[in-house]
Amino acid sequence: MYRAGQEEINEVSEVLRSKKWFSRSPSDGHLREAIRFEDEWAEMVGTDYALLMCGGGTAGLTCAMAGLGIGPGDEVIVPAYTWMATATSVLSAGAIPVLAEVDETLALDPADFERKITPNVKAVLPVHMLGRAADLEPILAIAREHDIKVIEDSCQMDGGSYHGRRTGSWGDAGVFSFNWFKIISAGGEGGCLVTSDRTLYERAVIFHDSGSAFRPQAGELTEPIFVAQQYRTDEVSAAIARVQLQRLEGILADLRRNARGLEQRLTDGGLTIAPNNDIEGDCGICVALRFESEQQTRRFAEAAGVSGYCGLDHGKHVFTEWTPLQEKRVMHHPAMNPFHFEQNKGLRMQYDASVCPKTLDWLGRTFFLATGPDLTDAQLDEIASKCIDGIQALVG
Ligand SMILES: *Cc1c(COP(=O)(O)O)cnc(C)c1O
Repeated sequence: MYRAGQEEINEVSEVLRSKKWFSRSPSDGHLREAIRFEDEWAEMVGTDYALLMCGGGTAGLTCAMAGLGIGPGDEVIVPAYTWMATATSVLSAGAIPVLAEVDETLALDPADFERKITPNVKAVLPVHMLGRAADLEPILAIAREHDIKVIEDSCQMDGGSYHGRRTGSWGDAGVFSFNWFKIISAGGEGGCLVTSDRTLYERAVIFHDSGSAFRPQAGELTEPIFVAQQYRTDEVSAAIARVQLQRLEGILADLRRNARGLEQRLTDGGLTIAPNNDIEGDCGICVALRFESEQQTRRFAEAAGVSGYCGLDHGKHVFTEWTPLQEKRVMHHPAMNPFHFEQNKGLRMQYDASVCPKTLDWLGRTFFLATGPDLTDAQLDEIASKCIDGIQALVG
């Protein structure tokens, strides 16, 4: 969350004063914040439907799995560099995540995705890490050829785009996060699923509100109601999300101006920027610097003393840090652990460092330099000069 102010306070006050806080009630006098947000978000992204929910992007990803009917016996390809929730959402559906390498752009390597395809692979989850798009065109082409569904994890890319179209609108479904660490926030937590597939949408609606049989809008659904989870959003969160959406284009414009300005200064100073699948659609959250080796990255980091981190230090975004997966600890009861399911016998369940060595190599050779929408030119100059001094210390 980069910006918030009086507008959020005003909207929340209005909702609170209305005393109509339930997001799914179409009754008179209701402000319909959640329903309006969904219309606005779907229009911005370019899909027919959006479903706002609590439970975050993690819930959104799980709803997408449910919407596609992914379950036991299925494998889902997940890049080895992403927030752990991308992989855990697959397990929540009873399926098994299979790791694939990221390439030099730090997003899913289309070639490794293709190599990992077996008849058990039912879906792929390209992730747009740090506001940088995965290479969706080759990924979609490969997926279509093998009848594999595509769920875009756009949790770190609220409002970004790829080849002129918003991320989230390319795959069968897309998922955004509005937790506090993301570009915009729905009051600290929140997630949104988008799709243009009516069946997927209905099944996601049912999954996110297993009591929906008792609500009026359930009558519009043609898919049969089943029992699942309760991830309904509330009007206060939705009101905040609507104001945040109005801020989004301004935040992105400022982030992009600063990131591109910083990159220009750094390339002029002899630093190497990691390739990006679509620099115009990139959100500008960070600048990714590329080095020859992990040792060089670390020496640079020490010498430059700027705000940022080596990719390997990105905590639970790096697959080697996914301890519960490595130890196969899932769910509260052993019989509900997908790693024990009969249908999952023989599927690939390996998550140690040997599975994706190239990912570790690229992460070790990357320094993510922090940017921000409100950095001044003088601050950008200062960051750039520290980096240029840092690289000279390396060479010298
Ligand atoms: C934040 C994030 C999610 C979902 O996180 P929530 O906290 O559940 O909103 C999923 N994938 C990625 C890549 C993320 O960064």
